[in-house]
Amino acid sequence: MEPRIRPHLSSSNRASASDRSPGWRPSAAIRISLWLHAAILAALPVFPNSWAWLLSILLGDHLVLALAGLWPKSALLGPNLARLPWAPARNGLVVLTFDDGPDPEVTPAILDLLDSHGAKASFFCVGKQAQGHGALVREIIRRGHSVENHSFRHSNLFACYPLGALQREIQRAQSAIAASSGTAPRFFRAPMGFRNPFLDPALARSGLRYVSWTRRAFDTACRKPETVLRRLIRNLCEGDILLLHDGNSARTAEGKPVSVQVLSTLLPILDARGLRAVSLPMAMGNEPGSGAP
Ligand SMILES: [Zn+2]
Repeated sequence: MEPRIRPHLSSSNRASASDRSPGWRPSAAIRISLWLHAAILAALPVFPNSWAWLLSILLGDHLVLALAGLWPKSALLGPNLARLPWAPARNGLVVLTFDDGPDPEVTPAILDLLDSHGAKASFFCVGKQAQGHGALVREIIRRGHSVENHSFRHSNLFACYPLGALQREIQRAQSAIAASSGTAPRFFRAPMGFRNPFLDPALARSGLRYVSWTRRAFDTACRKPETVLRRLIRNLCEGDILLLHDGNSARTAEGKPVSVQVLSTLLPILDARGLRAVSLPMAMGNEPGSGAP
């Protein structure tokens, strides 16, 4: 079956094939927010009786930014790769991503399945996990996949961190993964996909690009592989970035990791639809086997 072409480019996926250039360029929403803060600070002494109105405008601005941070595919807080750009997408590429690992039981099974279909993937590793399973991180790289940054501790409070704490968390994971694999990650994904406005400048400082996903499996919560698979393949097409988990995968009623069960069915479906699974660096360029021009 021929893959369906989706010639749509959202503002969140107009990404170049190069790594993020150093220096932070605030998004339009952040620039408006900074301007609002400056304007209201200037207006307060002039219109002291309007302080309640001025404050409510600021609160509204903060509410919009907070909601944007809770919407994983939003590009309001900064560039966000939720789908591959047009060039690699039209070559029939999709990206499989696995979060929260490496896991000594699940990751090797996923690597074997990927090998059996000649598929490549990106593993968003937790820095602390990478530190404890260095050999597994090296094995991921040895088999031709990429290892990316998913924070050091995977804290539930990650989206509440101030700028300094975000920078330390990201850099600590970057160092742990690079020490284990010999390769520094190029991409970052926030725990649970939740962010705050400080994340984009923190990533810019580390030269990392933010990646979310087109489709997520919810394979940490759902114990039924057929339900998880349905979520991933409904309207699946080239350019999609799929989110599964090698760490914290739910278990079936028989005790098998759901993500492994799903992958064993998903890979033949990708083959049948003429879609090629690659890692993020392969899809975005600068890697052997890249589908990007
Ligand atoms: Zn995660």
